[in-house]
Amino acid sequence: MEKAKEPKHPCFCEYLKINQVIYNLKTTDKIQALEELLDVLVKLKIIKNKKPVLTRIIDRERLVTTAIGHGIALPHARLDTGGHIAVVVGRSESGIDFDAVDGKKVHLIILIVWNPSIPGLFNHLFAGLAQFLIKPDFRRRLFEAESKKELYKLLCEIELTLLPSEDKIIHRAGLLWKLQKIEIQKKKSNKAKKKELQKQANLIRDELDDALLDRFDKLMERYGFAVAELEEGACQGCFINVATGMRSAIEGSDDIYICENCGKYLVAKKKAK
Ligand SMILES: [Zn+2]
Repeated sequence: MEKAKEPKHPCFCEYLKINQVIYNLKTTDKIQALEELLDVLVKLKIIKNKKPVLTRIIDRERLVTTAIGHGIALPHARLDTGGHIAVVVGRSESGIDFDAVDGKKVHLIILIVWNPSIPGLFNHLFAGLAQFLIKPDFRRRLFEAESKKELYKLLCEIELTLLPSEDKIIHRAGLLWKLQKIEIQKKKSNKAKKKELQKQANLIRDELDDALLDRFDKLMERYGFAVAELEEGACQGCFINVATGMRSAIEGSDDIYICENCGKYLVAKKKAK
């Protein structure tokens, strides 16, 4: 009797072919590296013009770095490029300064351009990538890949059905914190400044989940803020201590949690720059 085939999860390589991988980037400059990556997409005719994509990526990068720590960055832009999604990956032997939260240089860049007509796709892709890239062993294998072929094979191991658990949203805390800052600033600004801030807010809103934003807006309306920092184990939204396990999970991470006491979004204390 024939065994039923197990359903296969969609693999990252549905969006990434081997010629969309650069084994060793020539430059160690952030902007030049982004250009080098985009040149690949232009050459393969996956995108037509480099300029608008580069501008959008840099604008987004300026708001909050897309370096997720541990030597990895996921620069991205939401832009209609004709196709659904465009992905290109670059590895850097010497490392690139990406202004990462952990201060580490970036050795792997996964650049993503996705079409605004399919908003859910990026969240899905980002969540799937984050779930894999968070594993130290997987990262080590990626960094140690000895050829383009080996690197590509490893990237093909990434499956995209894994969604973040409901009590934790991976690697989005910095983004949500920035959005709150912008929304608060917006209230105190004049018309021209408001417009500029709205543009920045929209860039962030574009890539956050609808359910998350919906809850964020409700909290903002009710309390004037929606995201609280965790300081010395206490939620700064309600000043109640969180459970020890939760405290150690939050501290030093860029993940979003929800305070069990006051229901606000809870993030690690941001380091003063
Ligand atoms: Zn709280």
